[in-house]
Amino acid sequence: MKKIALIGSTGSIGKQTLDVVKNHPDKFEIISLAGGNNVGEFLSQVAYFKPKVATLATQIEKDKICQFNTDFFFGENAFTNAIVEEADIVVVALVGFKGIIAVLDAIEKGKNIALANKESLVVGGSLVMQKAKEKGVKIAPIDSEHSAVWQALNFDFDAPFKKIILTASGGAFRDKTLEEMASLKAKDALIHPNWQMGNKITIDCTTLINKAFEVVEAKWLYNTTFDKIDVIIHRQSIIHSMVELNDNSVLAQMSYPDMRLAIQLALSYPERLTPTVNSLDFASLGSLTFEKIDNKRFPCFDLILQSAKSGGLYPAVANGANEQAVNLFLQDKIGYNDIYKGIYGALQAFDGSHHVHLEDLQEADKFARNYVNFLFGV
Ligand code: MG
Repeated sequence: MKKIALIGSTGSIGKQTLDVVKNHPDKFEIISLAGGNNVGEFLSQVAYFKPKVATLATQIEKDKICQFNTDFFFGENAFTNAIVEEADIVVVALVGFKGIIAVLDAIEKGKNIALANKESLVVGGSLVMQKAKEKGVKIAPIDSEHSAVWQALNFDFDAPFKKIILTASGGAFRDKTLEEMASLKAKDALIHPNWQMGNKITIDCTTLINKAFEVVEAKWLYNTTFDKIDVIIHRQSIIHSMVELNDNSVLAQMSYPDMRLAIQLALSYPERLTPTVNSLDFASLGSLTFEKIDNKRFPCFDLILQSAKSGGLYPAVANGANEQAVNLFLQDKIGYNDIYKGIYGALQAFDGSHHVHLEDLQEADKFARNYVNFLFGV
C-alpha cells in the first residue's frame, strides 16, 4: 500500500489523482491532503479519504471540521504540513510558482515526488535537481509529455537518446490570426480542443508558454540541452511525445488524452495497473498530423525559451510576469497580447543577480508580478 500526500487536491490534477486512488484502494492510500480555496470540495474529499493531515490556504470555522478525525492546518503555505513523515510519495499538483516550495520541502524531507507542477522546474530547475540528487529523491513526471518520454526510455532518466520530440496540440487559438488574437477574451481561450485542465494552464496552452515550459522541464528532468529538444504541433493529442534514439529509431507513446494515465503511472511505476483510458481504436482515428510552430503568431514561446537560456533568475521573472498577466487576463483586465508585453517588459526591466536560492527566486517572482501590475495600472 503506497501512502500518498496530495498537495493541491482541489485542482484538476488533484481531483484526477483522487480518482486514480479511488480506482485502486488496494494499492494507494491518501495520508494527507492540501487544498486551496475550494472549501466545500475539499471537505468532501476529507470526508471520503479520511487523511491524517489536511491543510487549507483559507481559514475556516472550527465547527466545520470538528467532525473529522484529521489534523487541520491553515494558511498560504500550510501545505508543507501535509508533507508528512508517513508519506511514501508526494504528488505536487499545485499550480504556479508556489509549487517549488512544496517540491523543495518534499526533497528536504527525503520524499519521492510525482510532479505535475511545471513552474518549479522552470524557475528553479538547477536548484531542484541538485537537491533531489543530494537527497536521493526520485521525481516521476505527471506531465503527459514527460511521462511519454519517460515511458519511451523505460523509466530510465539516464538512458541515452538523440532527441526528445515534444508534441503540442497548439491550444484553442492554434488557427487564429494575429489580428483575431488581439481581441480574444478569457472565455474564448478556456475551451481546450483535447484536454480537460485548469484555467491557468489552458491559457498557457494558447500562448504556447505551456509548451516552452515543458521544454525547460524536459531539459532538467532528462539532464539534456535545449538543442536536443524539439517541439512539433500534433493537433490530435494522440502521440504524447517521442524519443529519437541514436540509430534514428523513434519511439512514441500513444493513447487517448487522459491525464489519469500519467498520474497513475507516476504512482505505480514500473508496474502498470488496470487502464484509465479506452484502447486506441486506430481505424477510427483518421490522420495524425504534424506541423511546425508558427513563431510569429506565438511569440511567447521563444520569449520563454530565451529567458530559460539566459538562466539565473530570468525564468523566475518570466514565470512571475506570466502568472500575473494570465491572472489579469482571466479577469478581463488586460488583452490577450498584453501577456507577451507583460513578460517582455518584466524581462527587460529586470537586472538582478544570478543566485538561484529560494529567497532569490521569491524576490524575482515578486518583482515580475509588481512590474506587470505597474505596467497595466492595476
Ligand atoms: Mg503537458
